[in-house]
Amino acid sequence: SKRGRIDTFVAKRLQIPKKMVRNLIASEQLFIDGHQVLTADTQIDEFSLIECQGNVLQQRQRAYWMLNKPKGVVSATIDNQHVTALDLLAGIDKDLLHIAGRLDLNSTGLLLITNDAKWSQRLMAPKSKVTKRYLVTLANPIDSTYVAAFAQGMWFEYEGITTQPAKLTVLSKHQAMVELKEGKYHQIKRMFGRFQNPVIELHRESVGEIRLDDELGEGEFRALSTAEIHSIN
Ligand code: URA
Repeated sequence: SKRGRIDTFVAKRLQIPKKMVRNLIASEQLFIDGHQVLTADTQIDEFSLIECQGNVLQQRQRAYWMLNKPKGVVSATIDNQHVTALDLLAGIDKDLLHIAGRLDLNSTGLLLITNDAKWSQRLMAPKSKVTKRYLVTLANPIDSTYVAAFAQGMWFEYEGITTQPAKLTVLSKHQAMVELKEGKYHQIKRMFGRFQNPVIELHRESVGEIRLDDELGEGEFRALSTAEIHSIN
């Protein structure tokens, strides 16, 4: 993130010498996020709200979106083969937007997109243990022996790790709910692969307390609510 000193930012933005910025500070004309600036070396970041003599000099507003990802859309910002998740955010400023937790090309459902790197880091950090819930459709019948295997964790040779305990709930012969607290490469497909059971459909329903909005059709998006944003911490 773009951290720096308030005097450097204001001098550059208003094209004035730093000495004049210090005068603005001394005359109580400069505020960051509603607090009066007292020293020229006060730190700001790209999301600080800066007010100078009543004018807003903000660098950037935080943005948080949920997208109902369709099949065939790639979880990337640019791609020369496929439509990207960002392409679907029509009319939105794409600068610095990134995907917080990818979905495979043919997976569907809740995709979170933000410009707030600290927020997405919190969301994805293994230690934050945010539960991601998926509805999975399998090619072959599922049986109850899967439940213990998912709960126990599976050894992934390539990464040299054992997966965290995952919760599998059998919904019907070919459908299950899977709850994960991590997201290794193709994790769910690989876990069902242990049973030679190919995943036909994979749909993310929720990330922590953020649920995919029923109102969103495939490819539609909306801004997150304040409560949804603050649910990741
Ligand atoms: N696990 C997968 O295999 N694919 C996804 O898209 C998400 C989780």
